[in-house]
Amino acid sequence: MIHDIRNFCIIAHIDHGKSTLADRLLEFTKTVSEKKRSQLLDDMDLERERGITIKSHAVQMEYKYNNKIYILNLIDTPGHVDFSYEVSRSISACEGAILVVDCTKSVQAQTISHLSLALKNHLIIIPVLNKIDLYDSISEDVMKEIMELVGCKMEDIIPISAKNGLGINHVLNKIVTRIPYPKGDPKAPLQAIIFDSLYNPFRGIEILFRIENGCIRKGQKLRFMSTGKIYSAYEIGILKLKHISKNKINTGDVGYVVSGIKNASEVKVGDTITDAQKPATKAIQKFKEFKPMVFASIYPVDSDKYEDLRSSIEKLQLNDAALSFSPESSPALGFGFHCGFLGFLHMEIVKDRLEREYDISVILTIPNVSYRVYMNNNQKFLMINNPSDFPETEKLKRIEEPYVLVSIFTKDIYIGNVMSLCIEKRGIMIGNHNYMTSKRIKIMFEMPLSEIVFDFYDKLKSISNGYASFDYNFIGYKNSDLKKITVWINHEKIEPLSLLVHKTKALFLSRKICQELSVLIPKHQFSIPIQVSVSGRIIARETIKSFRKNVTDKCYGGDISRKRKLLEKQKKGKKKMRQIGKVEIPSSAFMNFLKVK
Ligand code: GDP
Ligand code: MG
Repeated sequence: MIHDIRNFCIIAHIDHGKSTLADRLLEFTKTVSEKKRSQLLDDMDLERERGITIKSHAVQMEYKYNNKIYILNLIDTPGHVDFSYEVSRSISACEGAILVVDCTKSVQAQTISHLSLALKNHLIIIPVLNKIDLYDSISEDVMKEIMELVGCKMEDIIPISAKNGLGINHVLNKIVTRIPYPKGDPKAPLQAIIFDSLYNPFRGIEILFRIENGCIRKGQKLRFMSTGKIYSAYEIGILKLKHISKNKINTGDVGYVVSGIKNASEVKVGDTITDAQKPATKAIQKFKEFKPMVFASIYPVDSDKYEDLRSSIEKLQLNDAALSFSPESSPALGFGFHCGFLGFLHMEIVKDRLEREYDISVILTIPNVSYRVYMNNNQKFLMINNPSDFPETEKLKRIEEPYVLVSIFTKDIYIGNVMSLCIEKRGIMIGNHNYMTSKRIKIMFEMPLSEIVFDFYDKLKSISNGYASFDYNFIGYKNSDLKKITVWINHEKIEPLSLLVHKTKALFLSRKICQELSVLIPKHQFSIPIQVSVSGRIIARETIKSFRKNVTDKCYGGDISRKRKLLEKQKKGKKKMRQIGKVEIPSSAFMNFLKVK
């Protein structure tokens, strides 16, 4: 019965306890029988380690309230800034959201950005204050912040400890009583919204959907409205911790469908599924296609692993439609891929997954954003996201770079540090800073996206002792005076180390690159000049002095096994080296060594 269904999500800033709360809900509804220590919804190792739920999941629970059984569909959402697009799609499948706020951290950037998305979608908000086991009394400031943001009363906020299970039944009761059942017409033509897709090597692509109107039956012919393609629903079902296949899924409910689709690009999250014979006249909503914002190249450390890398990236993409890639080659690094990511965190996660899940060591080059380049002879611009494609300066008219509006939330004592960091990153403050409460402020800056991809996140955390968080939105392209930095090692141009930077930073960064490289590249039998040029002029240089010693010299006449060990160690080390001309360059020299730790 549609009246018994509640569709909801949990929204929170990262680490505020969303996954832990999800575990407790599964436990208290007996969806899982025994208490498991691990976080059940985060099935990838990596997610657990980073504490980020990367992919959205859906789980169905049953809960008895006033002697009636309710069906609760939890749609889990990821919590990081790069994954806002996933949050918005989960939100679109729900009528309500549990807003989790860590009482020790209070409201942070993504608390607000996710909450405003939920409010825009007219979701009912159930605010909970988590981790109360850590405090004897609850701070009024935190309560006031939540009340202000949500527009609720003090008694609407449920204090819980997701860790200890305190207050969980209260949350479940509120889900039943406060979140409305889905509206929808069971007799109307089918309209189901796709909110996620997962790749399964045996079954192909599984699509997760929520039915707005009508129903889906096993074997039904389905039409995807954005592509017009038709598929058969071979298998449909609901998701508990396992898949449970069904013959029919009704209005308002959440489920999965398997229809033999092999290619992730055929499935668009946010698209509407309808009946092929009796189609709905229009889609539920226009879906937004997400665009990659950050670009970098990925090469195998061991160049023999190119084919492995290709098949691994292809597989990754099946689970991660936001990842784009195309083959490229460079004299320095051989064959690899130029990839597009949603943001810098997404990029790092892709690299980690390649290394851990697919066991391939990769070189990830310094990230870039996408520039609009206008030439003298042409009105239209070129989109350039790879510095090696950057045209010669004489032909260049002007360049535009992407800008974002960054919202930063921090304690007022860090405002000075935050302002100077943002100004250093070419930010311009927008409006005044805004006191959210007596101690917490919000500041907004317009900033080039390229300044965020380097090391902004790390720096922001360190200058605020972890008490600043941020979120950003793309706002458009602006004119910018950019220069291409070119690196020469032993007089050879190393294209993968090229970089586009603002004019004001060219000298500083050129020097820094020289210094870093002179440390990263080991000594050779000869001396190695490292030079950086901007617009054809060398503006920085360092020299790596030669060395004379052979590594085995020190075991002169000695133990042969020790000698062999040393040579083996050296050979292993060599695998991570790239030979360019006569110089061996460690792969770390191609990665983002400019990132400040
Ligand atoms: P998420 O990033 O929002 O999914 O957060 P997690 O559920 O992964 O929790 C982040 C950290 O907070 C983990 O180390 C949890 O064990 C811890 N945590 C979550 N809930 C509570 C709680 O109620 N009390 C305490 N003390 N720790 C909690
Ligand atoms: Mg989590």
